[in-house]
Amino acid sequence: MTKLIRKCTALLLFILLVSCSGRTVFHNGQVLTMDGHYTSQENLAVVVKGERIEAVEPFASLDPAMLKRAKSVDLDGSLLMPGLIESHGHLFGAGMTRLGLDLRGINTKEGTLAAVGSYLSKQKPGKWVFGSGWDQTDWVDKEFPTAADLDTVASDNPVALHRIGGHSVWVNSLALKTAGITPQTTDPDGGQILRDPAGRPTGILLDNAAQLLGEYDMAARGGNPLKVITAAQKEAFGNGITTFHDMAFPVNFLPVYRWLYRLGVLKLNLRVYLVDDENLEEYLASKEPQSFHDDRLRIAAVKVFLDGAMGSFGALLSEPYSDKPGHIGLQTTPDQRLLELARLAENRGYQLAVHAIGDLANTKTIAAFEEVIGTDRDDRYRWRIEHAQFLSPGDIIKIARNHYIPSMQPRHATTDMKWAISRIGPQRTETAYAWRALIEAGAIIPGGSDVPVEPMNPFWGMYAAETRQDHQGNPDGGFYPDQRLTRTEALKMYTLWGAFAGFDEQRIGMFKSGYQADLIIVDRDVSRVPAQELIEAQVLATYVRGKRVYE
Ligand SMILES: [Zn+2]
Repeated sequence: MTKLIRKCTALLLFILLVSCSGRTVFHNGQVLTMDGHYTSQENLAVVVKGERIEAVEPFASLDPAMLKRAKSVDLDGSLLMPGLIESHGHLFGAGMTRLGLDLRGINTKEGTLAAVGSYLSKQKPGKWVFGSGWDQTDWVDKEFPTAADLDTVASDNPVALHRIGGHSVWVNSLALKTAGITPQTTDPDGGQILRDPAGRPTGILLDNAAQLLGEYDMAARGGNPLKVITAAQKEAFGNGITTFHDMAFPVNFLPVYRWLYRLGVLKLNLRVYLVDDENLEEYLASKEPQSFHDDRLRIAAVKVFLDGAMGSFGALLSEPYSDKPGHIGLQTTPDQRLLELARLAENRGYQLAVHAIGDLANTKTIAAFEEVIGTDRDDRYRWRIEHAQFLSPGDIIKIARNHYIPSMQPRHATTDMKWAISRIGPQRTETAYAWRALIEAGAIIPGGSDVPVEPMNPFWGMYAAETRQDHQGNPDGGFYPDQRLTRTEALKMYTLWGAFAGFDEQRIGMFKSGYQADLIIVDRDVSRVPAQELIEAQVLATYVRGKRVYE
């Protein structure tokens, strides 16, 4: 009997060894390596062993004995490419938008109010309700809405609805009352309470004024972190995103991420950019940059907001808005504070990312970077300017020459093109969303969506980068078409350049032996199809470190 058991165990072990060489071979499709080849190649195979890529070779040259033992994934003509990198998104916001009241894509004020009303009919009275995604620039009446508008459908719940872009909040009267915002409340630094001629708050809080909602807003946004992050991660994997640069995350919430990785819920590679709030300085002073869970979670960067957004007249300009005389926007962090934080980040070894949209905000950011780190020719710091939307010609040169990184979101251009020219005039728009000018000056542009501001879909970002058109092909030829990118550049935005911006170029962004096995299977060859087809591209499967996480 013992003999038999021994024999059986030996046989079992043999079977296990034979069937589990731990290798998976992806073959029989197009392979886009991004390793010097920016269009797909036929007849290539990618061999994955454990969490890493072992080989990228012609299928015909693989060892038949190895093939026999390995697991095989037949691509059946689909495209295999490196997992994509979201270089600027908000994971929590993405999840909340999926779970909360999502107002994106509703093109009328009446429709928006109707959506709020129907959502509220399913909520308990008195409970704070959070929503996001409205955009008055899509409405017939492009003026900001008011608390009175919202009161017509929301009288029993305090309601806070973040505008698309997140730089203004529309609240109802009960929210104003509950949060104690009255005619006597003064505007906080870097923020504004819109008021009627009598000084009464109208129901719109710009930029830092949203903080007056304080804990109410956080509670409303809080939700169940497990549900929120699970929803966001699912959306990321479904879009082929395997690494996510999470912008403006509060220090206080870090334990939530640690907990979700420990539970095994989070599998995404996350690069966290800590937001400048009241807890940041103490955190930076006491903690070195850290990496957890085999570097899936890295906390080594800081995000500061220097101005607001162009849509809500918050971007800081050197000359007034063309459609709002005398107004140059808002500076949300004073110069001195930016310098202090930059010095602290430099001193503690943190990467710095500054949100700067208007030309003056960009000039100030560049000046602060120059003062604290000088140029960055050895790419040690990789400090980033988030959005870098509107630049003076001189600053385009400086950014490239100094090796700062403009982190940009192609769809912002195709969303903003509805009103960009009226905000800053045709001449200034020439150096707005100036991707080609930046690349030609020598910069790299990691690509992002700024989800939930724009949908996460990186192929939609690539489409916008290449065409500068909306999905219907407007405007003809593209918005300021000189600034369009090539397909190769659009692909680099979401792979190589994102990897570099996150200090990850030695591990992800391309297929190369020893690199992390983050890979996706796409239903069409996105390196070759006409731009219009990028809109329809579907991710069929997503793998993170050799494990399938989406199908
Ligand atoms: Zn953002």
